[in-house]
Amino acid sequence: MMSTENRKHRLRNSKCREDLVIDGAASIKWGFGWTERLKCTRCLYVGKHYKLFNAVTTKGKGRRSAQINIGFQIGVASTSIGNTSSRRIMNASNIIAPTPPSM
Ligand SMILES: [Zn+2]
Repeated sequence: MMSTENRKHRLRNSKCREDLVIDGAASIKWGFGWTERLKCTRCLYVGKHYKLFNAVTTKGKGRRSAQINIGFQIGVASTSIGNTSSRRIMNASNIIAPTPPSM
């Protein structure tokens, strides 16, 4: 992601030498997975979104689940706590908990 976007940035605006940063305002959360894009703080360059997680390979239509979310559900199912309790633990630990539908 970084090298591809840096190359695209240099091709689009060869005079700009500013480094790219993650565009936090455009971050997309999918459970524990994130989709991010890079932007330049000097010029108007904005890259495309990149999924920073692996999606499960399933047949059919619709959005693919992230492997990390499936793994978390398997872990929660093997303990005595459920989704609600695990979300409370994450929130108390200052970790942004996924929304119940994404879990
Ligand atoms: Zn730039």
